[in-house]
Amino acid sequence: MHDFDAETYQAQLEQQLAPRLAGADDAALVAVVTDLVAQLQQRLDACLDAEDYRRIACAPGCGACCVVNVTVLRPEALAIAAWLRANRDSAALAELRRRMDAFIIAISGLDDEERIAIRRNCVFLDAGGSCSIYPVRPLLCRSITSTDADACRDALVLPALGEQPMVMMNLVQKKLYDSAFRALGNVLQRYGWPGKGHELTAAVREFL
Ligand code: SF4
Repeated sequence: MHDFDAETYQAQLEQQLAPRLAGADDAALVAVVTDLVAQLQQRLDACLDAEDYRRIACAPGCGACCVVNVTVLRPEALAIAAWLRANRDSAALAELRRRMDAFIIAISGLDDEERIAIRRNCVFLDAGGSCSIYPVRPLLCRSITSTDADACRDALVLPALGEQPMVMMNLVQKKLYDSAFRALGNVLQRYGWPGKGHELTAAVREFL
């Protein structure tokens, strides 16, 4: 595993993103986040070797942590909505909208701890426990890099019993995606969009 300087990388990303976000419309925002995700994967591949990847437990099919509050920036929400429209028929979209509306009501007013406590799966987690929007999943979902799915499950349950379990993570992957989220948020804010994330379901529903 190679060293990764998150502060320098974030500054580089902000410089790179600024000209593309100035005056961007919604289609351009989708293109920006799509290119960003591809670039981040390339950077991750340059930092991690096969053994590093083997140690990371997070993968398609593991939804162990998908009861936490996830926030997204506007380009991410637009990209997820566009992907859903391209990959679902009208009946499936109508059913998804209905479930999203019910979900938004169910988690309304809950803080992060209360959101975990109700153990309600993310609306995009399918019946088989897989992320149904995996190709366009949020940056913050990509930043989660546990090396042990059982430790994730414990970490979501044991605090209620007064224990603070540890979850071992790949910090390069976490820092990479977290710095990209901050860089994108900072540049969005510079050009008049919200720079902080919004709850995933409500943010996507706005564009679906
Ligand atoms: S978007 Fe996908 S990876 Fe993220 S919390 Fe929802 S189901 Fe899990």
